[in-house]
Amino acid sequence: MQRSIKVKTDYKNSRVKQPSIALNLVGKWKLPLALSMLAFALIWRLSDISPRHEAIQEAQETIWESSSQVTLDLTLPENEMQAPIEEAQATPMDSDEQWKTFTIKSGDNLAYYFQEAGLDSKAVQEVLSLGKDAQHLKRIYPDQTLRLLANDDGQLQALQFDIDPLTTLIVQRQDDGYLKSHIEDKPLEKRIAFGGAQIFDSFFVAGKQAKLDDALIMELAQVFAYDIDFANDIQPSDSFKVLFEEYFVNGVKVGNGPIMAAEFVNNGKPYRAVRYTDASGVSSYYSPNGQSLKKAFIRTPVQYTRISSHFNLHRKHPVLHKIRAHKGVDYAAPTGTPVKAAGSGKVVFVGKKGGYGNAIILQHGTKYTTLYGHLSRFAKIKNGTAVKQGQVIGYVGSTGLASGPHLHFEFRVNGVHHDPLKVALPQDEGISSKAKKQFLAYSNNLLRMMESQGKVLIAAND
Ligand SMILES: [Zn+2]
Repeated sequence: MQRSIKVKTDYKNSRVKQPSIALNLVGKWKLPLALSMLAFALIWRLSDISPRHEAIQEAQETIWESSSQVTLDLTLPENEMQAPIEEAQATPMDSDEQWKTFTIKSGDNLAYYFQEAGLDSKAVQEVLSLGKDAQHLKRIYPDQTLRLLANDDGQLQALQFDIDPLTTLIVQRQDDGYLKSHIEDKPLEKRIAFGGAQIFDSFFVAGKQAKLDDALIMELAQVFAYDIDFANDIQPSDSFKVLFEEYFVNGVKVGNGPIMAAEFVNNGKPYRAVRYTDASGVSSYYSPNGQSLKKAFIRTPVQYTRISSHFNLHRKHPVLHKIRAHKGVDYAAPTGTPVKAAGSGKVVFVGKKGGYGNAIILQHGTKYTTLYGHLSRFAKIKNGTAVKQGQVIGYVGSTGLASGPHLHFEFRVNGVHHDPLKVALPQDEGISSKAKKQFLAYSNNLLRMMESQGKVLIAAND
């Protein structure tokens, strides 16, 4: 049972250097990722749904599945193509059976393997003195592969060492009698994969069922973060589709690339995104008609447990017990929860401000200001500090006139208060008019591909 389709594209076998994959492979990010995923998994669980047994079973059966393999003709714009494309150098394996191949085992050092290959003891030093490339041999790890070729006199003729699945160290004795080293990148094949599922229990569980890994699930939430509140708005009938890149070396999958296109249906409303790299080489996500999915503001500046009070110009104040306009939104959250700048801008007030208690006011351009009240404390900011969207500026508290810990958040446009939950947020710049035609062709192609994958999968399930 295979839940994602592997699609071959017309640009496979392109020889690409992808240092980020190598990083992923050595596991540098595994722990922090696992920790943050744990947090996300907890957040994304739909707390108000208690799925009955049948519902879960139904969910298992409704996962789109297929094992068909499709070849797609996807024309990528020039700047999406990865260059240069060249034939991979043939590795000097030849047909010589004198090569000795070792899989590194824990506790064994380089000298041990050289000895096993019948090499004299000077060879280790000779290789290690070759310079930067050869320094990879100073630290060898279990499961790495080392191949050694010796001549009859016990002199090293050649060495191959797989630094990671994408790069190999090659050492060869030259005609002049000296060893020479270089690094060889293996040809990386890109394929396009599809994943999709309907959400029954939690977004995280559905993502796993669609065979997306933790990083892709988080990336999908990031893509739509400006439109969908993944902590609070996910419904049991929501669904998603994703086209993403997979990387292979010699037919073995070595990692995932970015999400190329995605659709998320939230509460019956579809949101679609296409990844596009502009002329300056910057990749970001756009709506099918070329608008940026990024907005100048994030809707929710705090991870809240519930909205304790809405924007209401005729509210009875919970502390004062009289009618007083509530010109913001109250997000209940534990004391100490980080509060983020809703948009990039500049601090124009930080300090005590009457009923607001500890408050911060940010100015965003000339038109917009945001206010954050009842904070327990501030981050390291002062008047005039420039802040970036999403930067932590303070922490939830209950200073000033507050009945419990919450963030009071106000959004003003030209000095007039607007409901932060409803105000139309200004968009980031979209696709330039110059690139529009090319973008639309690319976007349509990609979305059609995603659509057809979804249909193939549903049909296969009938
Ligand atoms: Zn309030």
